[in-house]
Amino acid sequence: MKTVSILIPAYNEKDVLNLLYERLTTIIDNIGYYQFEILFVNDGSVDNTLDIIKSFRKLDNRISYLNLSRNYGKETAMIAGLDYVKGDAVIILDADLQDPPELIPEMLRYWEEGYDDIFAKRRSRAGETWLKKITSSTFYKVLKKMSNIPIQEDTGDFRLLDRRCVNALRKMRESQRYTKGMFSWIGYKKKEILFDRDPRAAGETKWSYLKLIDLAIEGITSFTIAPLRFSAIFGCIISFFAFLYMLWTIGKTLIFGETVTGYPSLMTAILFLGGIQLLSIGIIGEYLGRVFNETKNRPLYYIDEYNNERENNEIINPDSIVAISNYVSK
Ligand code: UDP
Ligand code: MG
Repeated sequence: MKTVSILIPAYNEKDVLNLLYERLTTIIDNIGYYQFEILFVNDGSVDNTLDIIKSFRKLDNRISYLNLSRNYGKETAMIAGLDYVKGDAVIILDADLQDPPELIPEMLRYWEEGYDDIFAKRRSRAGETWLKKITSSTFYKVLKKMSNIPIQEDTGDFRLLDRRCVNALRKMRESQRYTKGMFSWIGYKKKEILFDRDPRAAGETKWSYLKLIDLAIEGITSFTIAPLRFSAIFGCIISFFAFLYMLWTIGKTLIFGETVTGYPSLMTAILFLGGIQLLSIGIIGEYLGRVFNETKNRPLYYIDEYNNERENNEIINPDSIVAISNYVSK
């Protein structure tokens, strides 16, 4: 019998968990042929999310949980979950019921047909402001143009992944994660199914605009170095025109002699170039920061508790960093 794991990252989701549990279990109770594991990753919630999950586990042995040592954000919560799931396939589901569990049977059907990554694509974006719709569609356009990988638009993390995709993702240990891009990057046989994304069932979204901008920068800088090239190209173009301007200035001076004018053009050029230079340094800094963060080579997360077991972070072999990181990620 194959095991299917359902991975649910949860951060302050006390209002919605009961509803989620009910809807999810009604669906999977009706599916035979599979053994289910429901793994909650409690991402450092400050409400009683963990207690609710623990109470589920007392009643239902399909429930597992992973309690992270603090709030790491959804991207990290997901990789933590992927490290711990046992299934032959994993379905990643949001806790807030924006990803309808009713799609699970269809995903499983395609999985049996041999697809590795069955992702749910939003037909509509109910409950989202027009500003969010516009910004997100522009972002996707830019990212696709720059990175040359077919990023799936209007798709979240709601998907079924075959074990080999899970293992592929687990090998990608970068600390600043843009998981949505990684799903595309690993490849394998993909299948999209369409659905209408509901507004959040209860509770509040954890995304602020600032965090979304952050994620957008993350998405671009982790998948393409095109912005670095842009500043180089821009530099070339400006240098070219500056050269023409120089010829003109020299010629003018030789023919008409020297007059001390040109303060406005001087000022404009200095300010404009200064701006471009700062921007370019900023872009370089963005990438340098990523290099800095990755070279620290820290474990991606720490576990406080896995299914009632306290994690001690014991070091098995102090000589070997590899051993430590493997241990932590297991
Ligand atoms: N989430 C998380 N850690 C965080 C923020 C969010 O694990 O720091 C989880 C959250 O509990 C939910 C999912 O990620 O299950 C999606 O979050 P949310 O609904 O706030 O995002 P949105 O649907 O608005 O994009
Ligand atoms: Mg949501």
